[in-house]
Amino acid sequence: MNRKKRPAEPSGRAGVRLENVAVVLNRPRYPENIGAAARAVRNMGIGQLVVVAPERCDLDRVLTLATHAAMDVVEQMLCFEELAEALAPYNYVVGTTARQGGQRITLSSPAQMAEQLVPISQENQVAIVFGPEDRGLTNEEIRLCHSLVTIPTAEFSSLNLAQAVMVLCYELFKAGLPPAKSYTPRLATRLELDGMYAQIKDILVRINYIQPENPDYWMNKLRRFFSRLDLQAGEVSILRGICRQINWYAGKCYQDGVRGAAPPAAMGEERQD
Ligand code: SAH
Repeated sequence: MNRKKRPAEPSGRAGVRLENVAVVLNRPRYPENIGAAARAVRNMGIGQLVVVAPERCDLDRVLTLATHAAMDVVEQMLCFEELAEALAPYNYVVGTTARQGGQRITLSSPAQMAEQLVPISQENQVAIVFGPEDRGLTNEEIRLCHSLVTIPTAEFSSLNLAQAVMVLCYELFKAGLPPAKSYTPRLATRLELDGMYAQIKDILVRINYIQPENPDYWMNKLRRFFSRLDLQAGEVSILRGICRQINWYAGKCYQDGVRGAAPPAAMGEERQD
């Protein structure tokens, strides 16, 4: 199967070189976790899956969770008897642990780990090591690691092995994504805004919403309110159109009233004929 490589960043922003990263499962107990980890490796474009002394490696059970999509990851999976032997070719080793304290000086969060691996992974082979489901990595195994990472959690810190693999692989993948584009369309000019405020003030005085003696008290509130909205030119046009329409309608109601016809009832009001 054709393993997809991540396209070069158009922004020129380097990410983690995922093909130089291996997920190493040390003494995993459940074949399903190997399969689910293979799938995470496939989803996130990680280069290699390595398994050390699995307790059971029932391929059917592995493949059930790996699914067809990650079959090639399982086929190309490397197997070793000893962790030290598996880690021998790697230039940089990150250990993963749910437990902190003691000899486990946790250096990084997942995001910090990913940032740290951006430069390292360009020219180096990197291993991310995961411990067995029941006990995690031993202190001796942790000594083989250059640094440690812990996924922050609520009170109960121990994640399912394959889910921990997914969280860290996602973080590595994410480190290379271009920053989200933020786009602000053209905002209304000062001139357009001031025209709108003058028109709003005029109409609010005319319909007795604000006092003609002190219109600025309310207008300042409205200015602050509209300023928070970053109005665009088209939106200013809509508001001015509404003012024009209110103006026209007020005049029409007045004329109708003079001729004796009552205006239609407003929302929530009974029509008074
Ligand atoms: N009971 C063990 C946890 C084993 S979970 C312990 O307390 O250490 C199996 C593996 O998943 C761990 O060895 C580690 O590699 C990974 N893992 C689980 N939770 C994690 C977390 N919060 N942060 C980082 N890795 C974690």
